[in-house]
Amino acid sequence: MKILVVDDSEMTRLILQGRLGQWGYEVINACDGQEAWEILQKKGRPRIALIDWMMPNMNGIELLEKIRQYIKEPYIYTILLTAKKGKEHLLEAMTAGADDFISKPFDPHILKVRLRAGIRITKLQEELIAAREELRIQATHDSLTQLFNRSALVDMITREISRSQRDNSSVGILMIDIDHFKSINDTYGHLVGDQVLIQLAQRMKTCTRQYDAIGRYGGEEFIIILPQCGEQEVLSVAERLRKSICSNAFETTSGPINASISLGATWVTPSEQDCQEEDLIRIADKALYQAKNNGRNCTIIFT
Ligand SMILES: [Mg+2]
Repeated sequence: MKILVVDDSEMTRLILQGRLGQWGYEVINACDGQEAWEILQKKGRPRIALIDWMMPNMNGIELLEKIRQYIKEPYIYTILLTAKKGKEHLLEAMTAGADDFISKPFDPHILKVRLRAGIRITKLQEELIAAREELRIQATHDSLTQLFNRSALVDMITREISRSQRDNSSVGILMIDIDHFKSINDTYGHLVGDQVLIQLAQRMKTCTRQYDAIGRYGGEEFIIILPQCGEQEVLSVAERLRKSICSNAFETTSGPINASISLGATWVTPSEQDCQEEDLIRIADKALYQAKNNGRNCTIIFT
């Protein structure tokens, strides 16, 4: 655990460094508020800060106010360590955003247990952030394939349409359906069908760019959003994907299974101002329907 020590006295920094080092902490030193503020803006910043009050450039109170104004997450737990004593100073420090207040000269035992209290708080917050992130993923992703779910996809298409108008670029949509998927499920069972879906998801990832969004729209239907792609780019992704699927069998617990996909594609240019996400989905869906009628294992693109 990293601890930031902010003090203009070299002697105090050395004493703290010695103690904290003995207790197993990694110490990062700053000789005033300004230097501390620079450290706190970097990645991997310490989560706990021991801050002196009286310092040149930026004092402890100013530093606390800046931390509370600009750093929301993850929380920085702050202990003001100062020669100032008395209720009015404690009140001022806590009002500025300090979590704790210790008077110098400090009792090392007191500092040790107060630090432990701070670590408990930062750990709790880490767990809360992780739990919230997990919930966010559950709400936006399909649990089987780990791709985006339907509602996340629709939101992203809306965002990409307005972004493409802002950037004056096109955006492509692919709607993909596994051919005769029902017969795979009927012949081999749903568990094997799921294995095919998971592998299709992986292959879609390898056939697209990092900033393309892939999602599961329904049972065996998928959508890929292709930012900055016009007709040619959309078609080339579609064909690359289609060939990768039909030329390599899916490996399942019931042995290799050959399958193909049909693709419906469309794209929108920045001049089509009034295009809505449902229009794009509807057109791609129509193109997919046409691809199915044309004998499957092919791509159809509609404007
Ligand atoms: Mg000082």
